[in-house]
Amino acid sequence: GTFIHSHGTKVFVPDRIDSVQDAVNQARFSEKRWVWIEDEANGYVRAQIIKDSEKSPRSPRYGKIEVQYESGHTCLVSSDKVYPMNPPKFDRVADMAELTHLNEPSVIHNLTLRYHAGEIYATVNPYRKLPIYSQEYIQSYRGRRRGELPPHIYAVADQAYHDMVHGGGDQSILITGESGAGKTENTKIVIQYLAAVANTAVRSEIEQQILQANPILEAFGNAQTIRNNNSSRFGKFIRIKFNNRSQICGANIEWYLLEKSRVHQQTRQERNYHVFYQLLSADESFKEDLLLGGKNARDYNFTKKSSITIEGVDDGEDFRNLIVNHYPLYLYSENKSLDIMGLSEKEKFNLFRIVAAVLHLGDINVTPNFRDRADIRDFKSIERVCHLLGIPAQEFKKSLLSPRIKAGREWVNQDRSAEQVQASLVALAKTLYERNFGSLVERINKGLDGQKSMEEHQFIGVLDIAGFEIFDVNSFEQLCINYTNEKLQQFFNHSMFELEQEEYKNEQIEWSYIDFGLDLQPTINLIEKANPVGILSCLEEECIIPQGSDKGLLQKLNKEWGNNDKSEGKYQKNRFDDGFVVVHYAGKVEYSTQGWIEKNKDPLNEDVTRLLARSTQPYIGKLFEEYLHDNEPTSSPIVGDHNNVIEFSKLRKGTGSFRTVGQRHKQQLLALMNTLESTHPRFIRCILPNSRKRGGEIQNKLVLNQLRCNGVLEGIRICRKGFPNRLSFDDFRKRYEILCPDQLPADRFIYGRKACEILLDTMELDPERYRIGLTKVFFKATVLAELEEIRERH
Ligand code: ATP
Ligand code: MG
Repeated sequence: GTFIHSHGTKVFVPDRIDSVQDAVNQARFSEKRWVWIEDEANGYVRAQIIKDSEKSPRSPRYGKIEVQYESGHTCLVSSDKVYPMNPPKFDRVADMAELTHLNEPSVIHNLTLRYHAGEIYATVNPYRKLPIYSQEYIQSYRGRRRGELPPHIYAVADQAYHDMVHGGGDQSILITGESGAGKTENTKIVIQYLAAVANTAVRSEIEQQILQANPILEAFGNAQTIRNNNSSRFGKFIRIKFNNRSQICGANIEWYLLEKSRVHQQTRQERNYHVFYQLLSADESFKEDLLLGGKNARDYNFTKKSSITIEGVDDGEDFRNLIVNHYPLYLYSENKSLDIMGLSEKEKFNLFRIVAAVLHLGDINVTPNFRDRADIRDFKSIERVCHLLGIPAQEFKKSLLSPRIKAGREWVNQDRSAEQVQASLVALAKTLYERNFGSLVERINKGLDGQKSMEEHQFIGVLDIAGFEIFDVNSFEQLCINYTNEKLQQFFNHSMFELEQEEYKNEQIEWSYIDFGLDLQPTINLIEKANPVGILSCLEEECIIPQGSDKGLLQKLNKEWGNNDKSEGKYQKNRFDDGFVVVHYAGKVEYSTQGWIEKNKDPLNEDVTRLLARSTQPYIGKLFEEYLHDNEPTSSPIVGDHNNVIEFSKLRKGTGSFRTVGQRHKQQLLALMNTLESTHPRFIRCILPNSRKRGGEIQNKLVLNQLRCNGVLEGIRICRKGFPNRLSFDDFRKRYEILCPDQLPADRFIYGRKACEILLDTMELDPERYRIGLTKVFFKATVLAELEEIRERH
């Protein structure tokens, strides 16, 4: 064993291999009654019980337990703050469902010990087919050399591939966790693994392309945040397609919820999307074509107000990698072999054209003129944008300052205030960036698919999407992501138990069917239902009506859900009446409704979008093509409050990109869920060890919170309702026969089932704690652990 330091106290980490040491630890542990005590500052701390609580309710010590902390300090604590500790032989078990005492402190303790031992993967999936105490199993992944890539994620990827090849159909791997927890890294590892095993021949082009899609997506969709220097600001579902020989034949990427607001604002220690800094570190000759010559990130409004560089990252180098490896743009135009993704010169230039245009948009300076009208004095700044976007500068300026709107039957020009013009510039920048991103993914998909989709036979999908978020202030974005996680958790509960119950049925054990997928339904209904009007539908309605407002939205929600038990208690009013509370499986989240109408509608100056639709640059025209035939007034447009004039007829159509943010997300999510439901899923929960971006350090409370939010504890709760552990008749007999010597006849044949019945009878186990199936014995959690303990004493 070894000693490690944990929160200033020495903790003994027994070495499981060393059985002598094991026995010593075990004995030491048994002498004293160790427990975990809930603690404000550290989550949980260890202590020993000195005296149990008094049985009599009249005693002052009733419900209080006297404990002694490791410091020697003793105190009385309320018994509901005391949790039993597992004996040391459970330290670092790979499967947490094995823990005799499965409580929050034990799970964290186990994860912490594993983490310090470099065992960063743990599983809570109780459906492992291996005999659960197999030393070989532990050995097999402990025996690996240090520095070798982590085995567990490979095991998951390998299982998925294996199952697919052997008739298990389409597979999916769902990776969730909070920012910085390692979702994207693990996604890459899975894909690398699949690329490596799926084709033993020389790497084909398509595998290279799939691997290279990542750095491209990361340049445009990742940014430095406080939590993660390479934080994905969008979710993705990558589908790796296989032909009927189980070779990779293509791929497809679906993306969700790009954080557009980052384009114009970031907090001080964060950055805008990587690509801005990369482009601004490019060769001057390249920048000149984009009118960025001689400038750098310190010169532009959208980049200069926050961090500029990331420690250990060379943006110029990253840009060259992007260009040279993926976009042989100017220097390497003849070197097509480096052009892995197959983008043409023009296509590559267009991607950066938009990035540059966005930077220039941020530098258009709007000033108030007389009578509060907006003016833009620096015409050059307009010309730069218009040159890149291929639209006439005068008209652009006019559309910004005084757009046409409909008043009655007439179209009139309406002057805008500086604030309004500023807002429409920001909205335009965000939309340009997002549409460029969407178009990039579409283009990558075209490259990844080629003609090969004809061959597609099966797929393995990998989902890399942000986990549950509870911030000090939660807004519409958090609702969307938490709604997504609620659905994923429901899917997890459902599939985990569906599979499990399938097995119970096959083995014909006595069990009444429970649908655990229904547990989360009330919260999901509250968010997504159309009738009664759920939160998203209510928001939709409020966006369509003329005088719609954030306040109006809240009033409707309170009216619909606030005063009755329709929501089954999942909706609550908040204290200050500026938002509402939703009870998610991961906890209560208070949402502020400020700005939701605007965020959901995502309004654009349609005079400008009509210009863009007719751009001389075909790429730009294509991005805005739905506005092309948008010259004539459609049905009677509705004029909202004059701060925010939009043609709402677009919203009503509910088609294409006219859909609102919430509506689009809901539809994308439903499509994703449909896909996932047709696959065999696997779940990976990533956990962020500390908030300092540092190795070797675990913050208890942070980990605890994540276990609550990521559904690990929820999953454990559910699996414990069933019979999570099982052994074949043979294995059971071999292992536990010594507990009941001379019960089984040594000289004549006896059926496995009968043998197990005799043994279990002799052990006098409570019949509620096990079931005998057709080929296996099933146990409630902890039963096997107890049998193991008895076995060890023999
Ligand atoms: P976000 O939600 O912000 O995108 P994420 O969960 O995708 O976060 P990653 O970008 O995958 O987080 O990981 C954050 C950082 O943590 C990585 O840049 C890397 O430095 C480190 N990291 C994650 N996983 C591993 C790993 N398996 N081995 C070594 N380092 C890792
Ligand atoms: Mg990520």
